[in-house]
Amino acid sequence: MSLSRETEVIFDAHRGIDYDSANPPLYDSSTFHQKVLGGGAQYDYARSGNPNRALLEEKLAKLEGGQYAFAYASGIAAISAVLLTLKAGDHVILPDDVYGGTFRLTEQILTRFNIEFSTIDTTHLNEIEHAIQDNTKLIYIETPSNPLFKITDIRGAADIAKKHHLTLAVDNTFMTPLGQSPLTLGADIVVHSATKFLSGHSDIIAGAAITNNKVIADALYLLQNGTGTALSAQDSWTLAKHLKTLPVRFNQSVENTKQIYDFLAQCDEIAEVYYPGNSELHLSQSSHGGAVLGFRLKDETKAQAFVDALSLPLVSVSLGGVETILSHPATMSHAAVPKEVRDARNITFGLFRLSVGLEAADELISDLNYAFKEAFNESTTRQTTTQHISS
Ligand SMILES: *Cc1c(COP(=O)(O)O)cnc(C)c1O
Repeated sequence: MSLSRETEVIFDAHRGIDYDSANPPLYDSSTFHQKVLGGGAQYDYARSGNPNRALLEEKLAKLEGGQYAFAYASGIAAISAVLLTLKAGDHVILPDDVYGGTFRLTEQILTRFNIEFSTIDTTHLNEIEHAIQDNTKLIYIETPSNPLFKITDIRGAADIAKKHHLTLAVDNTFMTPLGQSPLTLGADIVVHSATKFLSGHSDIIAGAAITNNKVIADALYLLQNGTGTALSAQDSWTLAKHLKTLPVRFNQSVENTKQIYDFLAQCDEIAEVYYPGNSELHLSQSSHGGAVLGFRLKDETKAQAFVDALSLPLVSVSLGGVETILSHPATMSHAAVPKEVRDARNITFGLFRLSVGLEAADELISDLNYAFKEAFNESTTRQTTTQHISS
């Protein structure tokens, strides 16, 4: 029987066979009893494998439509594993607005091992093609990108990768396997920061890499075990549990985001809204606009006043939680980027990123509306939001 992904994340094929509880037991053990010497027990040492991680990886593989999944201690650990499948002298093509941690990993660490990187605008397929060198091995993309939600054509990038016998890896953190399915679109590897929507409760740091390619899978397993970056049993157990509600969480956040986009698009205080749901290319490779958007205040000097007047969102880095999270790229994710470079890339002080959670959309909108009016000194009376909060 083939199951929908909604059912797949809930149904536990091991229930009644390996255990009878609704949730699997937590195998809180670093080592396992080996009755038969040299008998090849399924589990021997928890870095190499443990039941909770195996159960999680089974679910992650199914969600992404892949045969092999590997859970890592963070998104960056998963991305490191993908990049460490390469060797000295190899060349990688990266987006110029790649996730900051991925940029730091490549720039400050992997270049020391003579892996070469070109950072380009991957939204133009001809730039990808032009960046290919004799030693290019991997094209790495992120779509939508952060914080300006630029869209790269996954099918187009996959065609280029195939034509030149390169591997295509896609960071699918923002869309989740439910919104976008890169392996189906021709990618070879999908990576996730499972810290975000997959976990959804802002409680654990985790990552994953998924593939259908056995050679890549063997390399990813070797790195997971050999560099010791596997996700712990405890966090694997937690993540597998959180995955059960991914469809309802993500779908509700997506619906809330549509309403918030409609509100922001007509706000006088907003200069621009960045929403993947407006991109035809994005919608041709994804099922909807996702649950994260960006917006720029018309007057960036009002940024702090806007934050001061907000009640509901958590103001922080990260995304994908049940709570709405407002991020300020200029002072958070991109604080290390020099101001001139930030400005040139349009990451100004007035730019915000909103990861929309599960609060009632009308209350989020009224909170945002109040904060815009307050920050821009327009007369207003506080609507329902603080009353809800203080009552
Ligand atoms: C957060 C994030 C990462 C890094 O994941 P960690 O779990 O923080 O290590 C990678 N890519 C994207 C797009 C992210 O948002």
